[in-house]
Amino acid sequence: AKDRGRSTYHFYSSQMNAHGQAQLELQSSLRRALERGEISLVYQPKLDLRKRSVTGVEALMRWQHPTLGPVSPAQFIPLAEETGLIESLGRWALQTACRDAVMWRDAGMPVQVSVNLSPRQLNLPHLATEVSQILADSGLEPGLLELEITESGVMQNPARAASLLQEVRALGVSLAIDDFGTGYSSLSYLQRFPLSTLKIDRSFIKDLPGDADAASLTSGIVGLAQRLRMKVVAEGVETVEQLGFLRAQGCDLIQGYYLSKPIPAEEMSGFLARDLRN
Ligand code: C2E
Ligand code: CA
Ligand code: CA
Ligand code: CA
Repeated sequence: AKDRGRSTYHFYSSQMNAHGQAQLELQSSLRRALERGEISLVYQPKLDLRKRSVTGVEALMRWQHPTLGPVSPAQFIPLAEETGLIESLGRWALQTACRDAVMWRDAGMPVQVSVNLSPRQLNLPHLATEVSQILADSGLEPGLLELEITESGVMQNPARAASLLQEVRALGVSLAIDDFGTGYSSLSYLQRFPLSTLKIDRSFIKDLPGDADAASLTSGIVGLAQRLRMKVVAEGVETVEQLGFLRAQGCDLIQGYYLSKPIPAEEMSGFLARDLRN
C-alpha cells in the first residue's frame, strides 16, 4: 500500500509538472501571438427587437496557435490577465474594433461595437485617456463604442472602478454590465456605476421559456433594467421560442446563435448589408 501511495504521488506530481510546463509554454507563445498575427477578432450581431435590425456587434478575441490550433478565450484570457498581457491585447482589440466600426459606418451601415474589458484593464489609471486616444485615431464617434465589464471586474476595487468608469462615460462611450446575475455581490453597483446596458447571462436564457424559475428571473431582470432606464440585452439566444418570450417581456436586444455565431469582420459586412436590405 505504501508503494502504491508513492507511485501514485509520483504519477500525480509528474502530471502537475506536465501541466505547469504546458501553461508556461502557452504563456510564452501568447507573449508573441500578437506580433505573429495569430490574434484576431470575430463579431457577433445584436438584434434590436423593436427596430428589427442589427444595431450592434460584440467583438470577441480569437487565438490561432501555430501547432495547437484555436485556443479558447476561456483558456487564454485568464492567462493574459495573470501575466499582464491583457493590457496590450486589450488595447489592440479596442483599436481593431474601432477601425472596423469606422469601416461599417463609412459603408453606410453604422453599428455600435462592444468590446470586452477585463478586470485588469479597470486598474489602468489612464484608461479614459487611452480610450479617447483610440477614438480620435480611428475617427469613431464615442456613441458607437460600448465597453462590456463584469461585476467581478468592478467589485475588485469599486471606488477606483467608479471613478475610471465615470471618466469613460463622460467621453460619451456606453458601458454594459456583462454576465448579469452570475455574481455574488449586492445590486448596489447598478446605482454606483454609470451603466447604459445590462446583459442577461446565458445561464438564465438557456432554460427559457419552459422553466418557470428562469422565466420569472428573466422577466424580473428585464423589469429592473427598464426601471433603471438601462437597455437590456439577452445573450445566448438560440431558439425562436426564447426570442418570442424575450420580445413579450420587453427585452431590447438579443444576441446568440439564433441570429449568428461570431464571424470575421468581412463576413459581418455581408451580414449587415443583407440585414439592411430586409
Ligand atoms: P462573453 O463576453 O460572455 O461572450 C459571450 C460568449 O458566448 C462568447 O464565447 C460567444 O461565442 C458565446 N456565445 C454567443 N452566443 C451563444 C449561444 O447562442 N450559445 C452559446 N452556447 N454560446 C454563445 P467566446 O467567444 O468563447 O468568449 C468567451 C469569453 O471570453 C467571453 O464571454 C469573454 O468573457 C472572454 N473574451 C472574449 N473575447 C475577449 C476580449 O477581447 N477581451 C476580454 N477581456 N475578454 C474576452
Ligand atoms: Ca461580453
Ligand atoms: Ca456575457
Ligand atoms: Ca459569459
